[in-house]
Amino acid sequence: MARVSTSLSPKRGEWVKGKLIGSGSFGTVHLAMSKSTGGLFVVKSAHTRAELAALENEVEILKNLEPSPYIVQYLGSERHGDDLNVLMEYMAGGSLADIAEKFGGSLQEDVVRLYTKEILKGLKYLHGNGIVHCDLKCKNVLLGSSGDIKLADFGCARRVEDLKNKSLMKKNTKSLEYVSGTPLWMAPEVLRNEELDFSADIWSLGCTVIEMATGRPPWGASKHDSDPMAVLLKIACGDEIPKLPTHCTKEGLDFLRRCLDRDSRKRWTCEELLRHPFVSRDSSVTTPPSSPKDAASSPVSVLGISSFDDAYDLEEPESPEGNDLSVIKPFTLCKDGRTMPRHGDECALCSSQNWITVRS
Ligand code: ATP
Repeated sequence: MARVSTSLSPKRGEWVKGKLIGSGSFGTVHLAMSKSTGGLFVVKSAHTRAELAALENEVEILKNLEPSPYIVQYLGSERHGDDLNVLMEYMAGGSLADIAEKFGGSLQEDVVRLYTKEILKGLKYLHGNGIVHCDLKCKNVLLGSSGDIKLADFGCARRVEDLKNKSLMKKNTKSLEYVSGTPLWMAPEVLRNEELDFSADIWSLGCTVIEMATGRPPWGASKHDSDPMAVLLKIACGDEIPKLPTHCTKEGLDFLRRCLDRDSRKRWTCEELLRHPFVSRDSSVTTPPSSPKDAASSPVSVLGISSFDDAYDLEEPESPEGNDLSVIKPFTLCKDGRTMPRHGDECALCSSQNWITVRS
């Protein structure tokens, strides 16, 4: 059931590669131009076996999806020996991480609301098609020139059906060898290798909202988190959730709490979150930012949302010097437990300054 509109796909040899615009654990992203129409698109290229696996997974997921206004469009792929080029729609604004950086590091809450709503529509579409994205973060959400928001990077995405079949085949083990993502954004149960469902994307959505609002990765604000492995253990096995932004409105804090429940069964679904006032309310009606006291004790009354049981753990406003996790780059953990250096970073784990991005 290939769904790609071939009329949009530039033919082999009928395009030219332009400058490098990004890179990830799958390889590189170049701007490209069709020689026949002059239209722009991007080419994602993989050169090593590990990169190829991620990019092939992305092709497999995207080519079987109907085009959606919330998913970056796949235009075709070409193989040259061991190299794979994947042609995709060009999103001129780049990633939300790029945008936040260009606008002072973080995004205004009104914009965060708008972007969050669009991300939710994309997730709803994916989940409706039985797909878990598995690597939602600002770097994987792209902005078009007219403010349109699309989900990208399906190198880690999984079909829930496939996961179920694999679990059936491996009846006697609870291990999910085939799970991947970027650890700081990953749900506790996924990091523990126990469970992967749509609710894992909801946890990552909460982390992505924090990232948009603060300009930093989730879990990144504590002065005490100097050891990456200790942070991973805290996410996987502790009882905390990431620190919530101090300057968020009550609605924002409530929305985050609905995403960031350590119990995956209690997290809200995309449909429920799309009805939450944080994204459904008219953003021209402003609500005051919460005070830390409000955040710790007050429920949001709109839509009859019930009281919070726990106090929020709020982010410290100042970025700590020296031990700032926001500067620690992700690292990659393969399914066999090996760690994989990021592209152009041959010794990702040699330095404590590097984080791990997980690909299986
Ligand atoms: P990792 O694979 O390690 O998670 P990543 O998420 O940054 O890294 P990609 O999102 O696939 O990897 O691509 C890297 C960067 O290239 C993006 O952050 C974005 O800036 C740019 N990019 C990717 N796809 C497009 C696109 N379709 N249009 C415009 N820019 C893009």
